[in-house]
Amino acid sequence: MHGVGFRESTVSRARELGLTGWVRNEADGSVRVHAEGAAEAVRAIEGFLRDGPPSARVSHVAVEQVKVEGHEQFAIRGLSAGVFVIQEHQARTHHFDLRLELSGAMRSWALPRGPSLDPAAKRLAVQVADHALAHNDFEGPLEGGGVIVWDLGTYEQGGRVAWPEALTRGHGVFVLYGEKLQGGFALQRTRAGEKPQWLLIKRRDEHAQPGSDIVAEAPRSVLSGRTLSELMGDTGARP
Ligand code: MN
Repeated sequence: MHGVGFRESTVSRARELGLTGWVRNEADGSVRVHAEGAAEAVRAIEGFLRDGPPSARVSHVAVEQVKVEGHEQFAIRGLSAGVFVIQEHQARTHHFDLRLELSGAMRSWALPRGPSLDPAAKRLAVQVADHALAHNDFEGPLEGGGVIVWDLGTYEQGGRVAWPEALTRGHGVFVLYGEKLQGGFALQRTRAGEKPQWLLIKRRDEHAQPGSDIVAEAPRSVLSGRTLSELMGDTGARP
C-alpha cells in the first residue's frame, strides 16, 4: 500500500480528529499507525484506515492496544531529518562528539562518557559550537590527539514541538538510525548559559539495552575499523 499517499492522508485525517501519534511505512509494505486520543476519534481513524484513502487497496487492518506514548503530535515517521555522526575525540580531554544535522549545520554536543543504550544512564552532553557537514567523515590525527568516526547514520526528529524550536526550548526527542545506535533518544537541557549542559537519555524501546555499555562493547570506527588508540598508535601518540 506504499506510494499512494496513505501516510499523508492518514496524518491529515488524524489531525482533523485531534489525535496524536504517528504513521510510518514498514519494510513489508504495510503501514503502521499509532493513534492516541478520544475513543470516538480513535474509532473514526480505524474506520478511515479500513476504507483506505482513494487509490489505496487495503487488504487487512490489525488493531492492537498499546501503551500510551503521550508525547508526539501526529507525525510521519520514516522521513529523515538529516545525518548524525558521533566522533570519538582525544583532545585535552577524551570525549565523544554527538552531531545532528540541523538547518545546514551540525548541532554538536561533547559527551565526556559517550552515549549509552541503557535508558537508566543519563549522559552529560555539553553543547559546543556547530560544526560544518564537511567535517562529518573526518578521521585521523588532530592536534596531538585524534578522531575516529564512532557511529554514523540518519536521524528523525520527534516530539510535540517542531525542531529547531524544540531544542531552543531545551527538549529534543529523536530517533537514530546508526550502525551502533538505534531507536529513540532524548536530549534534555539541564543548565543554560555559555556552555549549555544537557543529558542524553536512551528512550525505552526495542533498541534499548539495559545494563549495556556500547562504548566499551563497540569501540571501533565505523569507517576504518580502527580504535582511537590504534589510530593514535599509528602516529606515535597515546590517548
Ligand atoms: Mn570534540
